[in-house]
Amino acid sequence: MYIGDYLGRREIYSPERLAIIDAGKSPELRLTYREWNRRVNRLANWLKAEAGIAKGDRVAILARDGIEHLDSFFACGKLGAIHTPFNWRLHWRELLALIENTSPKVLFFSDDFKEKVSEIKAAISDKPHAIKHYIHLEGEGLPGSIPYEQVLESSPDAPVTCETLEAEEIACLLFTGGTTGLPKGAMISHRMICWNVLNTIIHDLRHGDIYLNVFPLFHTGGLFTYLSSQVILGNTSILVRQFEPEKVLELIERERVTVFAGVPTMYQMLTEAPNWPTADLSSLRFCTSGGAPLPVPLIQKYMKEKGVRFKQGFGMTEFGPGLFALAPEDAERKAGSIGRPNFFVDVRVVDDQNRPVGPNEPGELVLKGPSRSSGYWNDPEASAAALDEEGWFHTGDIVRYDEEWYFYVLDRKKDMFISGGENIYPVEIENVLYQHPAVQMCAVIGVPDPKWGEVGKACVVLKPGAKATEEELIAFMKGHLASYKVPKSVVFLKELPLSGMGKVLKRELRAKFVQEQEGGGSESEG
Ligand code: AMP
Repeated sequence: MYIGDYLGRREIYSPERLAIIDAGKSPELRLTYREWNRRVNRLANWLKAEAGIAKGDRVAILARDGIEHLDSFFACGKLGAIHTPFNWRLHWRELLALIENTSPKVLFFSDDFKEKVSEIKAAISDKPHAIKHYIHLEGEGLPGSIPYEQVLESSPDAPVTCETLEAEEIACLLFTGGTTGLPKGAMISHRMICWNVLNTIIHDLRHGDIYLNVFPLFHTGGLFTYLSSQVILGNTSILVRQFEPEKVLELIERERVTVFAGVPTMYQMLTEAPNWPTADLSSLRFCTSGGAPLPVPLIQKYMKEKGVRFKQGFGMTEFGPGLFALAPEDAERKAGSIGRPNFFVDVRVVDDQNRPVGPNEPGELVLKGPSRSSGYWNDPEASAAALDEEGWFHTGDIVRYDEEWYFYVLDRKKDMFISGGENIYPVEIENVLYQHPAVQMCAVIGVPDPKWGEVGKACVVLKPGAKATEEELIAFMKGHLASYKVPKSVVFLKELPLSGMGKVLKRELRAKFVQEQEGGGSESEG
């Protein structure tokens, strides 16, 4: 039985092919499919024999990106266990809450998060859901924790598979965004992985592609945008410990990377790296941008300066990252669009009464299809609330589609604000601000206003050395937008708060400015 044993299959088909380069290790680690499968067999054998991991058990990891995330994911697949990666940005108390909710038996951790693990360990050591085995990936670890190398060395590499595993069973838990309260654990089944791979491959992943992953591996972007598909195709993937623009450009050039994916903030940061002017990106068939709207001026900059074409992608934890795609051929003609729904996803755009709307009318995007997750772990209420009576999943994204069935994300439902009775979609304003030569990053939020209900506030990070005043930016926006959409104020910040994926945390900006406004505090950080 091979469902779940992805690497076991790959060792049969392409044992000698280069599977993975972990460029975050020193020295770099390069493994063929045979070597990797044997390594993961060792881990699975250890988990089974020493930690008693069986079908349905959770195996957790708190670590920056590295091969161990994937080792754990694939070892869990072999055992029918549930890989449970945590967002390392969370506070240890938040992590503790997730651990109490998911009760993993094993926790892998990297040295950078030792303190958090130590707090968690102290808090749960005498509780029924105490973690039984702590495994440190490097460094000295904590009292009683076992070195990862020892785990691998002490176990046989004999094949391990779970005979009774079915496609509907859960492969991993991925915690959503974290931008709205305590993250919920979306249950990702092997069925969901399979359909997401199909959606991704149909949209142009080929045999021989080389993919560089910079997304966090605790997020759907990391595990499923391309990595799972790359393994299923027997291709090579490259890991880095974290997103470092200079290194990313070097690796694309050195390893002749053909497929790269990032969120807009990353693409912006790459253009500011010292080696951007000289970087050779000619091996790239395309770059995929997803996670948030990609400013059109950035698409144009990549085309003009590097000849790199963009594919837009749209996805989400609960339905997989491969939901919509805009082919590179359309990147300019349909700039700003996320493209059309991928092959195995059904979509509708609905109004507040859940009635489908026509072309060019804004509405909420709702989804149906086989790449849907199986609800949220231990949270039947939230699982039920996400679906309407007809089984459509409500995304909370406001979109529209044009006459050719190309979709445009207008905004998140909760990011949209209403000013003087008019719906305002911050993304539209941000796209304009990005055209201003001094603007490096920006985010527009709605803040309370006694006259209009809400008005826009633009939070702007200027490019190093660049200058611009509030009046100047407001005048610039007035030159491009209907006046009711133009933010009433601009605040200059040193940086914007970002999530683990690199998305701007508007919730934090809103909390900051709404509080300050109510408390009458200063709004500027200089
Ligand atoms: P997550 O579950 O963390 O991957 O977040 C999913 C959400 O990210 C979606 O519901 C959208 O709001 C947003 N998103 C993903 N891709 C795009 C995109 N290409 N353009 C705009 N928003 C996006």
